[in-house]
Amino acid sequence: MSDKANIQAKIQTLESQLKQWAQEYYENDAPSVEDARYDQTYAELQALAQEHPELIADDSITKQVGGARLKNDLPKVNHPVPMLSLGDVFSIDELQEWMTTAQKQVTTPLTYNAELKIDGLAISLIYEAGKLIQASTRGDGTIGEDVTANVLQIEEIPQTLTEPISVEVRGEVYMNKANFVALNQQREHDGLATFANPRNAAAGSLRQLDPAVTKARKLSAFLYQAVNPIDQLGVQTQSDLLSRFTQLGLPTNHENAVVQTQSEALDYINQADHQRDALTYGIDGIVFKINDLALQAEYGNTIKVPRWAIAYKFAPEEAETVVHDITWTV
Ligand code: NAD
Repeated sequence: MSDKANIQAKIQTLESQLKQWAQEYYENDAPSVEDARYDQTYAELQALAQEHPELIADDSITKQVGGARLKNDLPKVNHPVPMLSLGDVFSIDELQEWMTTAQKQVTTPLTYNAELKIDGLAISLIYEAGKLIQASTRGDGTIGEDVTANVLQIEEIPQTLTEPISVEVRGEVYMNKANFVALNQQREHDGLATFANPRNAAAGSLRQLDPAVTKARKLSAFLYQAVNPIDQLGVQTQSDLLSRFTQLGLPTNHENAVVQTQSEALDYINQADHQRDALTYGIDGIVFKINDLALQAEYGNTIKVPRWAIAYKFAPEEAETVVHDITWTV
């Protein structure tokens, strides 16, 4: 086989392996491999995709959010503004490189809102005149599942905002650690399969045909994004958006902080890493978002991820470690 044929065969093998894992994870809420293994295999494919873009098909997993099309009985809804994934970095060096590249596009110093990356599943909530009228999952980014009846059973998600505004908000539904342990104990006792992690437990509990099941699972939520239309909220930054959400009665995570320099970003990572075990919910990294909402719009998105944000992922085995002695260049 020629070199090119070898590479093509390798790409096909990686694609089909990743698609199988993605189906287990996103559709069945039952992964068969650790996230780190998935991430490593994905990184291998992405590196080949960058070197040989001509060998990458349009339906490549590198060009899709989520995974395969959803094949369950939940009604489907369109997301006119796609729900995206996040680009990710796995080291401080890569984060530094991302921040340096982002800064090159503007002359004024960028600030970022640093947020915990909640280990749950993405949700979109549409409020009309302050009333919750639709809730949906991310699905493949453009088509998600209608989970309105189930979300109405989540006490933390308000059915009415404190003001009669119409807006789509997005965030994360999650299961806290205590509820996850209790659920798995109960399932074990009942002879049922246990969930691999709180993320899969949350997804399995929300993507249910019977809202009573969702109610019993006691899910929680943090909201962190507004789309359609955001202007009426009267905020210019991501950090103010989170405060505005609190005013509206939406649950938000309060561990966020505005950082400017790369050493401030590093401090935030170290602090979050220290606190991680003590948190009542799971996190798998930190999301850095350009704080200025107008700039976010200017930076825009790729087909899969926003260009104005990046996820720094914790390595599972480094959950307890602190990142030391990094030389920042800007
Ligand atoms: P992701 O989960 O790594 O990151 C994107 C998501 O982060 C967003 O869609 C949002 O839902 C969430 N998020 C949490 N907190 C946030 C915050 N504060 N701000 C913004 N977004 C926030 O990406 P993904 O595309 O959903 O999933 C890919 C990841 O899923 C992989 O990196 C892998 O770890 C895992 N995965 C594992 C398997 C497996 O078999 N183990 C299979 C597929 C995917």
